[in-house]
Amino acid sequence: MNILVINSGSSSIKYQIVNMSSNNVLASGVIERIGEPQSSLKHKWLKADGSYEEISLTREVADHREGLQWITKVADDTGLTQQLKGLFGIGHRVVHGGEVFQEPVIINDKVIDAIRKMIPLAPLHNPANLVAIEAALADYPEVPQVAVFDTAFHQEMPPYAFHYAVPYELYKNYHVRRYGFHGTSHQFVSKQAAAYFGRPLKELNLITLHLGNGASASAVRGGKSIDTSMGLTPLEGLIMGTRCGDIDPSLPFYIAQRSGLSFNEIDCMLNKQSGLKGICGANDMREIISRADGNDALALLSLDMFCYRIKKYIGAYYAVLGGIDAVIFTGGIGENSAVIRSRSCEGLQRLGISIDAEKNNSPSKEVREINQNAAPVKALVIPTNEELEIAVQTVETISAGK
Ligand code: AMP
Repeated sequence: MNILVINSGSSSIKYQIVNMSSNNVLASGVIERIGEPQSSLKHKWLKADGSYEEISLTREVADHREGLQWITKVADDTGLTQQLKGLFGIGHRVVHGGEVFQEPVIINDKVIDAIRKMIPLAPLHNPANLVAIEAALADYPEVPQVAVFDTAFHQEMPPYAFHYAVPYELYKNYHVRRYGFHGTSHQFVSKQAAAYFGRPLKELNLITLHLGNGASASAVRGGKSIDTSMGLTPLEGLIMGTRCGDIDPSLPFYIAQRSGLSFNEIDCMLNKQSGLKGICGANDMREIISRADGNDALALLSLDMFCYRIKKYIGAYYAVLGGIDAVIFTGGIGENSAVIRSRSCEGLQRLGISIDAEKNNSPSKEVREINQNAAPVKALVIPTNEELEIAVQTVETISAGK
């Protein structure tokens, strides 16, 4: 049984073909610069001998429909014709499901309409997701297609956690509330943790930390997200590569008054020129760590700020959950940076969190424990796999006929 997973941006399409019996990725790739004269395609596929081969191609791709057709052709050329013909389903990552979608759904006209209505909440992402959905429906009309929402996992947050203390009419009129993002990743690593412990997810209290270029934390009780650090948009919460995370809400007005920048310019500043980049000029954590190793003062400051913010969220979510079984690190930084993991947990021994230096410094691609043996709280590193989670949810949704 094969699933095609599509994650579409405004000028890109990432894809994977996953075999659900073996969990093998049969092919994966990305088209970038759609709409520009030279679009590029990177495509990697599994060969009969079990090894992967990769090619890079360029050509003009006018829109997402052409992009998808190019992917189909390259998949054909690399021996995947049968796999594409026999697709069980197509799973689309959709960023914003608002309050309408608490779980994945089979895509039909009503669903498309609802995703379109959510565009004001995700003006960059939902339109890009929709063009890919429409292209895939046109190219694969006979294959069931499922929308899997980044926001859905957080839809069970209680009202006292998701409301902002602003006039209630803003919620009623404009849907102003906290939604949370990275849901498929938080959900995937929560399930992986339960499998690792051999315990039902229902019994576990977890803090999941997705630390990548975007970063968010979640408090997960019994497999449900009861609080998360991102809000109305993915700008709130942890410090990120280029996003500021939590700030005083009056800061944009103050900057506007002092600098004369427009709200659009400030919006762009807080999303694209802030976070780690705003402090030290770089958003790639590897570069920042290497500069910090050379005692670069601003790189050191940005690391201190990054880890301090994570620690504050661990403390807050520990209180929210009333104790935890595990804290989980995932995402490019969470999976790969021992120094960020240990510094974010420094001084938390009284909460039962103690990192073992040797385990923390042993890299692995598997789920692994990095806590000291006697620590009451487990600390786990779990590689995330949002595409696999989308594929799993696509199969479940189609099988249940939802
Ligand atoms: P993601 O958005 O999940 O792909 O994560 C991207 C971030 O992970 C970037 O800031 C990378 O610098 C960071 N990253 C990847 N590998 C490492 C590593 N070995 N050590 C520290 N950070 C890393």
